[in-house]
Amino acid sequence: MLLNKVLRAGVQTGIRLQSSAAAVGAKAAAVGHGGSAGYCFEFTDQQKEFQELARKFAREEIVPVAAAYDRSGEYPFPIIKKAWELGLVNNHIPEEYGELSALCTLMWVFFSLDRCVIRFSPLFSGGMGLSGFDCCLITEELAFGCTGMQTAIEANSLGQMPVILAGNDAQKRKYLGRMTEEPLMCAYCVTEPGAGSDVSGVKTRAVKTGDEYVVNGQKMWITNGGKANWYFLLARTNPDPKCPPSKAFTGFIVEADTPGILIGRKELNMGQRCSDTRGITFEDVRIPKENVLIQEGAGFKIAMGAFDMTRPPVAAGATGLAQRALEEATNYAMERKTFGRVIAEHQAVSFLLAEMAMKVELARLSYQRAAWEVDQGRKNTYYASIAKAFAGDIANQVASDAVQVFGGNGFNSEYPVEKLMRDAKIYQIYEGTAQIQRMIIAREHLGKYKK
Ligand SMILES: Cc1cc2nc3c(=O)[nH]c(=O)nc-3n(C[C@H](O)[C@H](O)[C@H](O)COP(=O)(O)OP(=O)(O)OC[C@H]3O[C@@H](n4cnc5c(N)ncnc54)[C@H](O)[C@@H]3O)c2cc1C
Repeated sequence: MLLNKVLRAGVQTGIRLQSSAAAVGAKAAAVGHGGSAGYCFEFTDQQKEFQELARKFAREEIVPVAAAYDRSGEYPFPIIKKAWELGLVNNHIPEEYGELSALCTLMWVFFSLDRCVIRFSPLFSGGMGLSGFDCCLITEELAFGCTGMQTAIEANSLGQMPVILAGNDAQKRKYLGRMTEEPLMCAYCVTEPGAGSDVSGVKTRAVKTGDEYVVNGQKMWITNGGKANWYFLLARTNPDPKCPPSKAFTGFIVEADTPGILIGRKELNMGQRCSDTRGITFEDVRIPKENVLIQEGAGFKIAMGAFDMTRPPVAAGATGLAQRALEEATNYAMERKTFGRVIAEHQAVSFLLAEMAMKVELARLSYQRAAWEVDQGRKNTYYASIAKAFAGDIANQVASDAVQVFGGNGFNSEYPVEKLMRDAKIYQIYEGTAQIQRMIIAREHLGKYKK
């Protein structure tokens, strides 16, 4: 019953989003967030709807099962599927590559019975063409529920982004389109055992043979590695060590069931344990030349360019985790008594909560600014790295402070905050470490002063 209600809310919202998603950019230019008419901290009605739907889903569907998934490490596919049915996954895929047709919209308008909602709801997922800002609002809410699940969902965005940015029409239709037809996962396959921060150290080789490329090499730490339907793969195509990275690498789309792809064991990580992280080996994997993005040699820029789009949502995820830690700590502090009063009445605890609140608010503003910049069509590298670095750090600080507020209980897995502290750490590592973000911020900052 509850799910039906949520689904109905989701589908109805989805309809509105879908039918007007194309207008989001234009509308945003005039009103609310994303607008260029001046500062405005008020969301549009549509943004409030996305946020409300994702919030409801996180609190009613994710929070109750998050600890169990964390314990078992099982991949949360049932939850991802529900989120997909509600249009909470892949919502940045441009409308023209979605499966929702005007006919489906009309079907919903005419058939609003529960039976029809369930039957047609998958048709309303994906291809929603939402702005980066709106996607971030949804991401923050999902992360509040469980960042392991949010990371699994976000890895789709990371895998899809090179295709969205650099794919031709046929590639987009084939690989993005299929993700709007059924709840499929994809992955971004760049890091290797010997090359993480230093992407130019990637050793996986792709050699052109006739109309194909033959790929050999090993990738590491690939989120959704064992669940993906296809991968974005970065491989070296120019063997000359003197060739600059901007010309030495090529980006490919690779079907996950291509012979020669060997998927490693699921890694047992400190946190976000239901997310699927694996090494992947490529042994004489043949990729048709049609699956090259843009052209040979363009891969490095494509792989790095995706981060301007995906770092704001990573920062939004970190903010969602921090918001959860703040809420858990606040509720606990209002109930737990010591020395005859609730601990929230001890100034040391209330000031700790105040500091946590300050950090959460600023992290939220940082990801919103970074997403807003890119939605305006402006280069947002500086803001994206600030948001990613800042929100990643505050997620760790706020989760640790939440454990402190819980005292001994905070150290125990019967309470939710130890998971938050474990889950938070990865935000300072993946999609560019905290140190790499500072290098980027410094470079962008100093660049403004160079004569
Ligand atoms: C759970 C998880 C999921 C991931 N998902 C994906 C994925 O889906 N796809 C993918 O391609 N990759 C993924 N990664 C890889 C991730 O992006 C890398 O781990 C990260 O970029 C760091 O690379 P590294 O582990 O090789 O560390 P290294 O690059 O070896 O860095 C080690 C330390 O040195 C510091 N450091 C390195 N160079 C410098 C420098 N020049 N100046 C200052 N400090 C420096 C780093 O900040 C870090 O603290 C994932 C990793 C994890 C753990």
